[in-house]
Amino acid sequence: MSNILITNYLRYVILVGRRLATATQSNVNIGDRMKMLNDNKQYQKALQLFDTFNEQNIDKCSNWIIIQALKACTEIKDVQHGSQIHNLISSRLKRDPYVLPSLIHFYMQCGDVTRAQLLFDKSTKKTLVMYGAMMKGYIKNNSATNAIDLFKEVKNPNEVMVNLVFNACAQLATENELNLLKSISSVISSSFYSNHYVLTSLIDAFIKCGDVKSAKSLFDKSTRKTLPMYGALMAGLTINDQEEQAIAIFNEIPLNELHRENHSEKKNLLFEKKTDCLEANVTIYLCLIKALAKLGIFEQAQSFVQQIPSSVLADQRIRNALIHMWGKVGSVDEARRIFENISQLDHIGWTAMINSYGLNGMGVEAVKLFHQMPKEFINDLTYVCVLNACSHSGLVDVARSIFNNIQKKTEIIYTTMIDCLSRRAAFEEAQQIIEQFERDQAPALTIYMPLLSGARNQKNTKLSQEVVDRMQKLFPNMKSSLVAASILLANVYASSGDIEKATDIKIELHKSGGKKQIGVTVTDIDGKLWKFRAHDRSHAESAEIHEQADRMSKRIIEYGHKYDASWIVRPVQPDETIETLLCGHSERLAMAAHFIRNRKPKRIQMTKNLRMCGDCHEVTKLVALIYQCEIVVRDANRIHHFNMNGQCSCQDYF
Ligand SMILES: [Zn+2]
Ligand SMILES: [Zn+2]
Repeated sequence: MSNILITNYLRYVILVGRRLATATQSNVNIGDRMKMLNDNKQYQKALQLFDTFNEQNIDKCSNWIIIQALKACTEIKDVQHGSQIHNLISSRLKRDPYVLPSLIHFYMQCGDVTRAQLLFDKSTKKTLVMYGAMMKGYIKNNSATNAIDLFKEVKNPNEVMVNLVFNACAQLATENELNLLKSISSVISSSFYSNHYVLTSLIDAFIKCGDVKSAKSLFDKSTRKTLPMYGALMAGLTINDQEEQAIAIFNEIPLNELHRENHSEKKNLLFEKKTDCLEANVTIYLCLIKALAKLGIFEQAQSFVQQIPSSVLADQRIRNALIHMWGKVGSVDEARRIFENISQLDHIGWTAMINSYGLNGMGVEAVKLFHQMPKEFINDLTYVCVLNACSHSGLVDVARSIFNNIQKKTEIIYTTMIDCLSRRAAFEEAQQIIEQFERDQAPALTIYMPLLSGARNQKNTKLSQEVVDRMQKLFPNMKSSLVAASILLANVYASSGDIEKATDIKIELHKSGGKKQIGVTVTDIDGKLWKFRAHDRSHAESAEIHEQADRMSKRIIEYGHKYDASWIVRPVQPDETIETLLCGHSERLAMAAHFIRNRKPKRIQMTKNLRMCGDCHEVTKLVALIYQCEIVVRDANRIHHFNMNGQCSCQDYF
């Protein structure tokens, strides 16, 4: 979206420059030649041409030429060259301010907000184009608040400014911006709504501010849905955990229009003029692949991937996204097949493959690939993925050696290493690493969460309480994270038998308005997605499903399973037993539904939004063994492959 805006904005600037070019024929030619070079991304050459011409002729340099030179400097971020041009023309800026927007744009895009601001403030005749350049610059430099303030100064903003203020709201995305969005969108001229750029930005901003409903209703009302609009809505739904709806939106796109190779002959409503169709296809399929990755259901992924045209499949970004997606749906073989067929791998492909191994409990393979990866490709994310892989496979020594060799350790790298140590109950070492982190930088809440989670796994109430106390002291304002921490703490008390203390914490949480996330398991049965909550009775077949869950429970007990009451995190009511409580967990209902639909399924796949509880993990191992069925469960942390021999790929490090 922002690229389109830049292009439009620059087009406008160029038009202004062209109109005002009062120079001789020869220097118009220089300007045109520079423009041609710029259009072909030959910015250095454009600047060389400018330098040669300008040596003797700076006074004859038209605005058109200066604008082209500044454009080239902006594109290659040549601050020195741009500043020289500024010096050359500074004396004439007062009487001839037409290049000012280009100059402001140049400084802003090169990150020199102060100089841009100075130019803007000094100007006595501020135009809307200048306001636009300033707003765009503020957004680029992460100062969206300033962009919004500037917007408020203007009485009759144009479409570009409205578009930019929506982008600024999307960047900040708090309730204030949501209110602002609502008020601006209610007063702007209705003609703005027929501008699909403005509409797409508004949809995007509503979604980023968490108001999916308004975004969806705008989208539905739009009589002309363009591809970027579909893309903005799909991406937003996926981010807001509504990946199923994102996939449903994809299904509304007329595929014959989308896939039409040549759009120039006939009007195509999905595309804008001069759109690169392949590029547009790639963008929308990337949104789809992201949604499928998040959904995590193999059958769905497979059926959609078959629809992707081969021209799109050849794109490196699509291939990288597919490696990631197949990893997330538990199909490492598919991920590897794509990885091995890429002739020129980039850092994203390598990292995605390492992550796919890691998520699926193949830590050794992940580390092996990490060592084969060209050093220049390794970045922060690669370190996080390989450390995560070690963490999920219990390879603590390997993780330690990788961690110690990382030159610049970021917060997320520290967090992953602490997670790795905490999973193996190496709490002292984990705490030393936190100290090491806090010696150099301000404390961060995220690095405490894995320590707390590790303490919970060990039912270590003392350490858990200490960690939560420290979190509350250091980060009193981070309410939602503190709620998550308190829930974990309550669970530690509950699982170590202190139900009373657990209940106290939960009552406190309830009073403060903190909400626990509800566990949901999703699975595909006969091509349809089924969703289950714990003790769910909402399905037509619920009675049968619960009967089947009970039958499974009996078989499991015959195989020696003892229900682990420590996973129950609330008081047992008079009409409940430990067994009925655990038996009603959503994963078990999902498995039962598969068994009633197909008496002998060979493979069951599910996605759970929270972590699997330890009892469900044990039970699923037995179900896989007793019913001779491969079961794949992706939970909030990783992917478990339960084999028919009764083992899980995570080797119980979960
Ligand atoms: Zn469970
Ligand atoms: Zn497992």
